[in-house]
Amino acid sequence: MVQFRASDDCRPKRIRDYDWKYADDNGPIRIKLFDAYLTNAVKTQHRSLGNTSIPCPLCLESIERAAVFAGTVVEEHIVPQHATTENKQQTPDTQMGFKNTRSGLTLTCSNCNRFKGKHLDFLLRGLVAPTRQREDDYTFETGTAILIHAYLFAFAILGYEYVYCPELEEVRRQFHEPSVRHSAWLEHAHVNLNPPTPIVATQSGYPCVFGRPVGQPMQVFWWRFRASLPNADFVMYPVDVPTLLSELIK
Ligand SMILES: [Zn+2]
Repeated sequence: MVQFRASDDCRPKRIRDYDWKYADDNGPIRIKLFDAYLTNAVKTQHRSLGNTSIPCPLCLESIERAAVFAGTVVEEHIVPQHATTENKQQTPDTQMGFKNTRSGLTLTCSNCNRFKGKHLDFLLRGLVAPTRQREDDYTFETGTAILIHAYLFAFAILGYEYVYCPELEEVRRQFHEPSVRHSAWLEHAHVNLNPPTPIVATQSGYPCVFGRPVGQPMQVFWWRFRASLPNADFVMYPVDVPTLLSELIK
């Protein structure tokens, strides 16, 4: 347990520096995420009791708990970290929460983590903060990046029951070949080019909100983006989001 001395400055800045790496005696936040996803995978019958791995939400290959513990698998920042650090924020609205809650954390395998960083997140450099932007800042691949961020938010909150639905296979194909049109959901990946009132912090610990009109596609809103994904009414077992994610934002 990391102890604060009485003289320490315990305002949120301190917590931000501390960044959950040593969240408590049970280890880093990525272990808590892993355990929450494993519980979800068992509940939804994508893993059996006693298993020590979870499926990567992007390639469905196994992520071993030992690799997460050792740090060879690290936290996936859904919205790239380079967009959410405090010194990039220009308005009080976008300084809400903490870097990790402004980005939204989940877990992906190390290959997918690297691939997303290199091929998708890189494209959003400078395009997340709420400034006025031009249409030609956005390419076909940026649409893929937006769609994949929505997909990962949906996974982080709704879990395996949702991402294993057959309609989402095409979204995973879209991730692996960002510049080829694989998914019709790309048509619904949008950005607000005007300075928006962004969504950057909610009590869930993720910078996103879902609109779930009955029988209609699900809407995902985050920062200046929105996307649609298949209806999620059938989900009975969402992820039990680790307490730390929702506690630190309050
Ligand atoms: Zn993967």
